[in-house]
Order: sequence, then structure tokens, then C-alpha cells
Amino acid sequence: MSVRRLYRSALREQWRGGVVLLGCSVLEGVPAFFSGRLVELAVDRGFGAGRAGIGLVWLGAFGVVALLGAFGSRLVWRQLGKVVEPLRDALVRAVVRGVLHDPSPPRNSADASGVARITQHVEVVRDATGGLLVQARGMVVTTVAALAGLVTVAGALMLPVAAPVLVAVTVFAFLLPSLARRQRALALADEHAAATVGAVLSGMRDVVACGAEPLAGLAIDDAVDAQARAATRVAQAGAARAVVIGLGAFVPLVLALLLAPGLVRRGELTAGAALGALVYLATTMEPALRGLASTATTVVLRLMVALRRLAETAEVPEPVDGQGRPRGVDLHVRGLTFGWGAAAEPVVRDLDLDLGLGAHLAVVGPSGIGKSTLSGLLTGLLEPQAGRVLLGGVPVREVPAELRHQLVTLIPQEAYVFAGTVRDNLGLFNATATDAQLLASADAVGAGELVRRLGGLDGELGHGDVSAGQAQLIALARVYASPARIVVLDEATSHLDPVAEARAERAFAARGGILVVIAHRLSSAMRAERVLVMDGRETALGSHEELLTRSSRYAELMRAWAPAPVPRHAKAGLTSRVPLTVPAEHHPPQ
Ligand code: ADP
Ligand code: MG
Repeated sequence: MSVRRLYRSALREQWRGGVVLLGCSVLEGVPAFFSGRLVELAVDRGFGAGRAGIGLVWLGAFGVVALLGAFGSRLVWRQLGKVVEPLRDALVRAVVRGVLHDPSPPRNSADASGVARITQHVEVVRDATGGLLVQARGMVVTTVAALAGLVTVAGALMLPVAAPVLVAVTVFAFLLPSLARRQRALALADEHAAATVGAVLSGMRDVVACGAEPLAGLAIDDAVDAQARAATRVAQAGAARAVVIGLGAFVPLVLALLLAPGLVRRGELTAGAALGALVYLATTMEPALRGLASTATTVVLRLMVALRRLAETAEVPEPVDGQGRPRGVDLHVRGLTFGWGAAAEPVVRDLDLDLGLGAHLAVVGPSGIGKSTLSGLLTGLLEPQAGRVLLGGVPVREVPAELRHQLVTLIPQEAYVFAGTVRDNLGLFNATATDAQLLASADAVGAGELVRRLGGLDGELGHGDVSAGQAQLIALARVYASPARIVVLDEATSHLDPVAEARAERAFAARGGILVVIAHRLSSAMRAERVLVMDGRETALGSHEELLTRSSRYAELMRAWAPAPVPRHAKAGLTSRVPLTVPAEHHPPQ
């Protein structure tokens, strides 16, 4: 939505109030128009002619006119609320709608920066609109009335008055764009600080769990420093502005003071007219100009900046219908190519792959060959350099983020456990799961015993309470309980013993959807329905049996993995097999 449209649509309903406001303005401008004229009459006809009584009568008339103006001001203020408050309501409605439809923040968590935007910017717009309607409107009326009065009283002073004002206004107009930029930078810095602090506070649990307090502190420091710098730059620009305004408002007054005696001596101006002109300049135009300029900078700029940010916030995303929504959850990979850097040798090269519902694929290959890169591409974390990954017919990265995060999950090797209850940890991706569902998920992947040992779902997990293998079990149970239909295990069972690994993989295979296992041990390949062998330039795809005869690389890997028949009950014999990707000495004890 454009800024002007948002503001105009909010203002549109207020046009009647605006017309009434204009009527009150005319009344408010009456004293400005008559002030100098009445002083002139009081001096020339009264005090100057030795008739003090007449002079006092004219000054009395000035008083009456001033009262009339005050009455006009009173009407203006009363009318103002009727225009500004409905405007605020309309803006709040628009912004709340925008924030509620914003797909970027995670569900179930308050969008702290969105709230900051509403409260701050809507208040700014409301104040600024009120300020504009009261001050700017009043000042324009006053300046015009005073100039008109000045022409009637002392036409000879018109040019020396108008020229400096014109110069000041022009310079001022040149300064405005840089002022606007600085104001906008300040508004963005304010929001960034609010968003950073909000994110850290609402994610405190995770921050502590990761031991990231110093990092979070630094992020907040940076945001606050940037905010302070932006505020300083706005203040500097404000100082330059004050100089220009000062010149524009004072120079006419000084010129009038210098020129008036000569004009009076030559008889071009009466003493009363000279005094009347000074009244116009000193008591009416100078304050009005000064006010107008400061209103223009502070109020108009803040209004423009706040409106622009509001318009961005009020932007309601296009509803996704058919277009971005995948039809089904099958994965189709065509010509997929990816290298880390434009000039780098591609890690994934021209890959084709079809995974229908129920597919169970294992990916094998030596360390550093590109298996994790492939899992990033399949799940939409990485953008292909060439080729496509289609999820239900839609490029996976174009599926609306919220939906994609629901449908597709990648479990990395490093499992993530945060401080909190076991329930919090298991229900992370499924806020509506019942306790029974969470326990069933834990049992399914082989984490049931661990959950019981931790004190059930209410058990508290502290930072560093669980081993790497136990953390992997929790991560597996968490994803099992989630609505994800496509699950990619990227060596997610590397810290489990082979028996536990087999149990977890079988559970995911039986869960439905699509399972991709980046194999840590070759036994994962034997369980899968199909195997993708990655070996630099060569990739081979097929069942375990097919690949044994077709891919010499696969056969070689298998021979290296199982050189001799395995004793049936010797678990030690199983774990001593060299894992595909982690050297045996790095394999942590279970
Ligand atoms: P695997 O999972 O099979 O061990 P990876 O996909 O992690 O292999 O890595 C494949 C290649 O890409 C490696 O040479 C690795 O150095 C490189 N690589 C991985 N991640 C990045 C990255 N973030 N930036 C640059 N190069 C990377
Ligand atoms: Mg990897």
C-alpha cells in the first residue's frame, strides 16, 4: 500500500471535520490581519495626534479582535479531536491487520517489533497530523493574513521583507531531503533496537541454553549505539535548520527597523504605519514563520517517515491460493547443481531424483563430498545454482515459509536441546501435541527410557545435562511428533549405537511421508529402499542390490565396511566398524 493511499484512506472520512476546521481558521486569522492596522490607527489618530482616548479605543478594538481570534482557536482545538482520533483508529486497524498477516515471525510468539511499530508510529502520525492541523494551518493563515495587512499598512516594506523570507524558504527546502533521510534512519534504528531487544528477551531461554549471553549482549549494544548515532545526526541537521530559520525570520525585522526611519523622514510612511509594520513582523510573522519551519521539519518529516514505515507494516501479503501452495508432498529434483561460490567446483552436479510419498532414500559418500549440501538444497535452505527442487510441483524455496517449515524438517548432526522441561523440548514443533502423543513419539524413536529417566515430560533439562546421543534422541522424538511430511536426517543418529540408530530409522520409515537419511554408517543404506551414492563427479542411484553390481564405488564402500562376517551378539564388533564420515577415534562413547 502506498503511503499516500494509506493516509488518504484514513483521512477520507474526516473531510467534513476538515471543512469546519478551515472555517474556524478564518476566525483565527482575524487578529493577524488587523493587528498592525489597529496599532497604526491608535498611533496616527490617537496617541500621535495627542488624543489618548481615541488611541485607547483603537487598542480596545485590537483587544476585541484578539478575543475573536482566541474564540476561533478554541473552536479549532475542539474540532481537532474529531478529526485526529478517528484517523488514529483507522491507522491502528490497518497496521494490526498487517502485523497479524505477517508470515515472517514464528507462530505463537509475539512480534515485538511489530508492536513497537504500531504504538510508536501510529502515535507519531496522530501527533503529527494534529500538529499539522493546528500549527501549520494556523501559521499559514497567520503569515498570509499578516502579509496582507502589511501591504495595506506599509507597502514600501514589502520587498525587503519578502526577499529574505523567500531565500530562507528555498535553502530550507534544499535541506529537507537530507533531514528526511536522517529521520528515517533514526526510525529504522529505533525499530532495530526494539526488535533486537525483543528477540533476545523472548528467546532468553534459547540464548541461555546455547551460552550465547555475551553474543546477545553485543547485539543489543550495537543496536543501541546505532540508535544513538542516528539521533545525533538528526540533531545536527536540526541545528543547521535552526540557523536558516533564524535568518529568514530575523533579517526582515532588522531590515524593517533600519529602513523605517528613512521612510518616515521622507514622508513615505507615517510613524503609526511604521509601528504597525513592526507589529506585523515581530509579533505575527516572525513567530509564525519560525513555527512553520519547525513544524515543517519536525512534524512533516516525522509524519512522512512514520507513514512510510506504517505503510510497510500495513502491507497485507497477497493470499496464497493455488500458486505458492504445493499440491501434495512429493519431491522432484531436476538438473540440480550447486557449488559453494560461483567459481568453485560444484558439490552437487546435475542431479535428478524423484521421491514420492513413502519413499525412503539413503545418501552415502565420503566426508566432505556434499551430502549436507544436498540436504540443504532438498529442504530449501540453499538456493540451487542451476536446476530445481520441486515440492508438490512448486520450487521448494517459493513455498510460503510457514508452510514449508511445517512440511519439511532437517535434523542435523548437532542436536539442539534447550533449558526447559522435556515437554517443551519435545513439543517445540507441535504446540498442540498432547502428552500422550509426545510420549508415543519418544517411545517410537527409542527415547522413551531417556524421558522416564529425565523425570517424564515435566522433567527439567538444564544446559549440558544430556549427552550428545541423548540430545539426538530428543531431537528425533521432537521431529517425530511434528507435522513434518518430509524428514531429512543428516547424520542425525551419529552418536547412537547401531541398534538405537536402526530403531530410530525404522520408526521414521514407518511414519509415512518421505524419509531421506544421510548415512553415517552403511547399515542405513541397507535399510533404505533406494540409495544415492555421492562420489565427486559420479553419482549413482538404485537399490542396495543393484548398486552392489552397478557401482564399483558402492561395492568398494561395502567391502571396506564389512570385511568379515559379523558376530551376531557382539555389539562391540558393530560399533568398531569404521563409520562412513567420522573417524573412529572421534566417535564419542555412548
Ligand atoms: P558432507 O556432508 O558430505 O560431509 P558437505 O556438504 O558438508 O559434505 O560439504 C561439501 C563441500 O562443501 C566441502 O568441501 C565443504 O568444505 C564445502 N562446504 C560445506 N559447507 C560450506 C559453506 N558453508 N561454505 C563453503 N563451503 C562449504
Ligand atoms: Mg555432512
